[in-house]
Order: sequence, then structure tokens, then C-alpha cells
Amino acid sequence: METLQEKPTDLLIVGGGITGLTAAYLAAKANHKVTLIEAGGRFGGLMRTAPVAGTALECFYHHFFTHDLELHWLLKELGLRDEVFYCPSTMGIFRNGKIFDFNGPLDLLAFNAIPLWDRIRFGATSLLMCKCLRWENWEGVPAVDWFYRYAGRQSTDAIWAPMLKIKFGSYSDQVPAAWMIGRLRQRVNSNDGGQQRLGYLKGSLDVLCTALVNRLAAMGVSLYANMPAQKLEVQAGQLTAVHSGDRRFAAQKFLFTIPTSAIHPLVEPVDTAFAGRLREVEYFGAVCVVLVLKRPLSHIYWLNIADAGFPFGGVIEHTNFIDPATYQNKHIVYLSRYFAAHEEIASQDEAAIKGQMLAALRRLNPLLNDAGMEEVFVFKTRTAANVCGLNFSKKIPRCTSPIKNMYLAGMPHIYPDERSCNNAIRVVAEACRVMELGCEDIPRGPSLAGRIAMA
Ligand SMILES: Cc1cc2nc3c(=O)[nH]c(=O)nc-3n(C[C@H](O)[C@H](O)[C@H](O)COP(=O)(O)OP(=O)(O)OC[C@H]3O[C@@H](n4cnc5c(N)ncnc54)[C@H](O)[C@@H]3O)c2cc1C
Repeated sequence: METLQEKPTDLLIVGGGITGLTAAYLAAKANHKVTLIEAGGRFGGLMRTAPVAGTALECFYHHFFTHDLELHWLLKELGLRDEVFYCPSTMGIFRNGKIFDFNGPLDLLAFNAIPLWDRIRFGATSLLMCKCLRWENWEGVPAVDWFYRYAGRQSTDAIWAPMLKIKFGSYSDQVPAAWMIGRLRQRVNSNDGGQQRLGYLKGSLDVLCTALVNRLAAMGVSLYANMPAQKLEVQAGQLTAVHSGDRRFAAQKFLFTIPTSAIHPLVEPVDTAFAGRLREVEYFGAVCVVLVLKRPLSHIYWLNIADAGFPFGGVIEHTNFIDPATYQNKHIVYLSRYFAAHEEIASQDEAAIKGQMLAALRRLNPLLNDAGMEEVFVFKTRTAANVCGLNFSKKIPRCTSPIKNMYLAGMPHIYPDERSCNNAIRVVAEACRVMELGCEDIPRGPSLAGRIAMA
């Protein structure tokens, strides 16, 4: 097969999610010639959307925080600053077959699923965790152990353990207290006079993705979809080109923004030791089952399921956050479940997933009958988040790699913060600095992302 040589560029970016697209924007703005290749048919990665109830909806629920400064910066650059809006959000817990509101001190006092003393202890230890602890000191301690010890068994079983299960599935008992400190800070900071406010983009994340892609095209960035990186060409320890099918992409520098689980097979033939280190960074998957309903399911946006036996851990009622009028007055609900690669759901087909989710949903709301349900969509990804085990910081691959001119920036670099679009942008800003691309500084918010392995 004859190899087609693409025009050499200053920077080749592998991966067209928010990390890769933002990197392309920053580098092109600093006058570098940039090419980006994406394996999928569309750009956007995990921020992708699908048409649901007459409009674009994120396949995986998304919201922003008021302190997402890096994201606000990017939106402003793209002329979209006025498109983001913030609304009060509500949280609840399903425990002992009942829905409890869980939005602040008064709800906590009323949470009679646990004794009063445990409610007070829960509040005090939550404050202690997010206001007083330094994450660096708590990397080797599982969050769940910390909670059992300080917050007590009752509140851990009823609140913390189920919450960790929602995010980390069967890995939840390995999550370090350090990660929980980062997450609690993020939530507490997105607060307005005691009321949590979350942000959303008018028209969905599709608006951001489309604006970015259009801007990149206007700036002369070469964008390729359906173009997976399949082989690395390394000469004398230096990366000189990336191959995809019969195409060869040569560049001065290469930035890989794809999951490390997709990088290690590329690196294996050229550096087995490096590939081995990348393999240690694991991912888990997520399923979001999206329901289009005639009636609301509850009054809560974010409902944590704290009773055992449900195949989903979170019920995210999008239209308790965004006006149902946006969706033809339908009610949109995500049933969310994270899973490890070895779990049955990882290989189950849509029909099987749908069947078990809907059967369990009737336990939550017996009044929900099929007449209320108009459509059901199933979205799945195998790389929803990293398995942030104990001392995860030691596993994070450096942005610079043992292969010269090859750089890495992605989800692992967000730790100990929670993976998010904002934090992906922070990581890119740091990677551009490491690559000495001369990009402008993006304003830094309170994010903890991009601080490890980015020296
Ligand atoms: C269920 C869920 C809920 C979330 N909720 C929120 C939220 O509320 N708020 C928020 O801000 N963030 C949220 N996120 C996180 C956010 O979506 C991610 O942090 C962000 O989109 C990651 O972007 P990325 O570019 O680093 O990775 P990705 O989006 O994974 O992009 C990587 C890209 O690389 C491509 N690729 C893979 N292999 C190759 C290859 N060999 N060659 C070329 N390309 C390749 C993939 O196709 C993909 O497009 C959520 C994520 C999930 C899964």
C-alpha cells in the first residue's frame, strides 16, 4: 500500500475531544501550524450530543460550575460567554424507599434515615474535609475508610458509600480521600448564598464543539475525522510521524490527548517499559440511559440512590435543571451507572441494559407506567473516568514522555480534581507551557488539575 504523506506541521494533535480541540486552538492562536486527527466520525469525544426530544442533548449528562474560569475563558474567546447560564440545582438521596431532599443544613437535620447525632457528625466532618484537609496528606487513605472512621458507620452507609459507588462503581473502596477533598471543594465553591448553582450552555455542548471546530477550520487547522492514530514512527528515540491507514502525519511535536488505554498499544512496539507504565492507568466505563417522559419522575435534579439492588446509582433529571420547554415539554432523565471492564454490563447490549434499568426504575417510582415513557436511549463509553486508586499521583504519566517530541495531556492529569471540561482546558494550558508553544496564559481558577506530572 502506497503511503500518502500529509503536509508536515508544527504540531500534530491526536484526539478530538475538548482537550485536543482546545490544544489546537491555543497552538493555532500562537501561530503554529496544527493538524488534528480524531478516530471517530465526529469531534467532541465525551461531550458528544444526540438528537433527543427535538434538540441536541449530551449523551452523558453535563453541567458546569460557577468557578469554571478556564471554561468561561474559552467560551468568551469563541463569542459564547453569554450562552452559558446558571440555575439553582437540587440534590436528593433515595434511602429506605424514600426520597429525601439533600441541599443544605436544614435538609441534613431532617434526614431521619440516620440518627440525629450522625447527621451532626456528617455535617461537621464534611466541613472538616473540604475546609481543613490538604489532599497531599490523604492520598494513601481510602475515602470510605476515612468516612467510616470520622463520619461514622450510619452516615457512611447511607450517604458517602453510595455516592462513591455512583462515581466509581466497584472501584469505590479504592478511591483516596485526596480525590474526595478535591471534589467536595469543587461543589462547595459552586455556591451562591448556600444554594448550589450549576451551569449549562444554551443549545447544549454541541454549540461549544461546533464553534470550536468552525474556529479551528477558519484558523487553518487541518482537522481529520475517522482518522485513528494506528502506528508511531520513531527514529533514534524521537517521534517523527504518526500513521493512520495509508496516511503519514509528520510533525515537529505530537500531543496525545486520547485515553492512555489507547496510547499504550501504539507505544508497545517502540518502548515496552513506557507502554507498561501507561497500562497501569486504568479507566472505567459509564452507561447513561436517557428517558424521554411525559411527566416528571421527581422534583430533584441529582438523586443519589443509597438503597441496595439498583443497577444505576444516579438519577439525573435534566429537566429539573433546564426548562422542559427546551425539549418539547418532555421530561428528560438520565439513569447513570459506572462500570469496570470485567462487569457484565460492559458487554451487555442495549436491550439488556434497557430491560434491567427500567425494571428497577419502577421500584423507584411505581407510578411510572409505559404510557409515561416515550423514548429510551442508551449511551455507553469505556473511558468515562480514571480509576483513581490509592497514591494515583504516582501513576500519572508525565506530559513529556521517554519518546522525544511525544507529549501527553488528558484525564489522568486532572487528578486530584474531578474530570471535567474546565479541568481538561486547565490541563491543556499546562501542556502547552511544557511544550513551549508560547501560548497565552489562560486565567487560572481554583482547579487542582494540571499540577502533577506537568513540570
Ligand atoms: C457520564 C459522564 C458525565 C460527565 N459529566 C460532566 C459534567 O457534568 N461536567 C463536565 O465538565 N464534564 C463532565 N464529564 C467529563 C468530560 O466530558 C470530560 O472530562 C471531557 O470531555 C474529556 O475530554 P477529553 O478530550 O480529555 O477526552 P475525550 O472526550 O475522551 O476525547 C478523546 C478523543 O480521542 C479519540 N481517540 C481515541 N483513540 C484515538 C486514536 N487512536 N486516534 C485518534 N483519536 C482517538 C476519541 O474518539 C475521543 O474523541 C462527564 C463525563 C462522563 C463520561
